[in-house]
Amino acid sequence: MAETEHRPSNFIRQIIDKDLSSGLHQNVATRFPPEPNGYLHIGHAKSICLNFGIAQDYKGTCNLRFDDTNPEKEDIDYVNSIKEDVTWLGFDWHGETRYSSNYFDQLHGYAVELIEKGLAYVDFSSQEAVREMRGTLTAPGKNSPYRDTSIEENLSHFAKMKAGEYQEGECSLRAKIDMSSSFMCMRDPIIYRVKFAHHHQTGDKWCIYPMYDFTHCISDAIEGITHSLCTLEFQDNRRLYDWVIDNISIECTPRQYEFSRLNLEYTVLSKRKLIQLVEDNIVSGWNDPRMPTIAGIRRRGYTPSAMREFCLRIGVTKMDNLVEMSMLEACIRDELNVSAERRMAVLEPLKVVIENYEEGKTEWLDAPNHPSDETMGTRKVPFSKELWIEKEDFRESANKKFKRLVIDKEVRLRNAYFLKANRCDKDEQGEVTTVYCTYDPDTLGKDPSDGRKAKGVIHWVSAEHAVEAEVRLYDRLFTVPNPAAEEDFAATINPESLVIKTAFVEPSLREANLHQAFQFERTGYFCIDDDSSSAQLVFNRTVGLRDTWAKQGQ
Ligand code: ATP
Ligand code: MG
Repeated sequence: MAETEHRPSNFIRQIIDKDLSSGLHQNVATRFPPEPNGYLHIGHAKSICLNFGIAQDYKGTCNLRFDDTNPEKEDIDYVNSIKEDVTWLGFDWHGETRYSSNYFDQLHGYAVELIEKGLAYVDFSSQEAVREMRGTLTAPGKNSPYRDTSIEENLSHFAKMKAGEYQEGECSLRAKIDMSSSFMCMRDPIIYRVKFAHHHQTGDKWCIYPMYDFTHCISDAIEGITHSLCTLEFQDNRRLYDWVIDNISIECTPRQYEFSRLNLEYTVLSKRKLIQLVEDNIVSGWNDPRMPTIAGIRRRGYTPSAMREFCLRIGVTKMDNLVEMSMLEACIRDELNVSAERRMAVLEPLKVVIENYEEGKTEWLDAPNHPSDETMGTRKVPFSKELWIEKEDFRESANKKFKRLVIDKEVRLRNAYFLKANRCDKDEQGEVTTVYCTYDPDTLGKDPSDGRKAKGVIHWVSAEHAVEAEVRLYDRLFTVPNPAAEEDFAATINPESLVIKTAFVEPSLREANLHQAFQFERTGYFCIDDDSSSAQLVFNRTVGLRDTWAKQGQ
């Protein structure tokens, strides 16, 4: 699978090439380090494709490591969903699943080492006092009164922290670096805090937990990671990353490189915001097909290869930008255009009665499953006296631009005959309810011998044989391109992001498999939803046939 994909170079690959040719490294080891505090989204997919893609191409390794130092926000359900999503994307991590919590003993040992070297101290200042002492971007910080506590005392305090003798917030372990550094993260950052929390991996063993900046670099070093790739917001933290590695006795010196996060138009890619959408029931769950989560996108009908293709097309740079939704949609549309079987489904049904067709007769016509790929075979489609067509495919009168059914004009019914409209019935509101037509029995699979031309081709379903199906049409989840920039992003939810229709579909769709994708002629690409059952077919529209975003955005 992914091994055959051609991945273009980028600045990170150039660094790796240099490191390999200079002999700095003989192999490449990367990792994907999610925090198990939410479902993965399409931004994570970018990071996954980058880390695992590099490992594949350089015949190296990529670890899956849960960065699990915040037990209160984490959950084993998230661990499982993340594994499922990485696997679904087509990647296989190196060896066992890893957890930062596997290294809590070692991390604790390195913290003790820093204390022993006079490079860390236990601070009993209140959290507010610590914050005040940090200073600002323009003003240097102030040294804590606990900064010069003796090594022996610090060792004893830290042991008591570990033994549970101090309350949460009472004290913390801080690295002794530089309170006047121009990098805020270097102003004696906290590296351990007290937290009486049950941990999904380590249970109640610990009541002190290491901070991210201390944990991440050491975990990388323990695992022998050569290139630690993360997003740009960690740029400054690279100083702390290097400081920790340089000041503890560990062999490996991984290096951190930063790339820009993926931002996608008309959606949000922040776990905090996605959690809010789920918890406030704005969406039906993490896998709501409107969600930018991998689980949502999968349910929507995206394939792993389309997701990987998207990650290739957006590339990897240090430039922040907002990627257009049409980029994502083009990837799945290009793929399904080739791979999806065609079917006929009518989303806004209007009745057609063929007056010269025999009552009670059914013909089972052959319909190709793909217009340009014969290997995809054919299926049988029933044809009878009464059909459903799309409401918008009929007008009583119209100008030449309207290429569909008009009174006294002829169209071709897809996979079937020429059809001419004679007259129509209307209800009290003037809405057309039935169109009465005649068909030409000599036009099945051939043009009429007298050279008549059809105005266009329309799709249809035999009324007697049609299967009723629920069809879910999705639109962008937000009404503004960058909802994250709004004061209240949830106020910009698009109320029409989900529209449900009752459609009539051809009977062969009863045999469709879960998640199978189809092109419904002229209305888009659809897949069978998880909610589908033998009693009620449910389809999701994955994407329309054409890009409608460009127009909508204006
Ligand atoms: P949190 O706010 O919980 O830290 P996060 O989005 O950083 O959320 P992590 O689980 O820490 O989530 O992310 C795992 C990896 O995925 C990190 O290396 C992170 O840099 C990367 N990542 C997260 N969001 C994006 C994004 N939008 N684009 C590219 N990479 C991302
Ligand atoms: Mg993070």
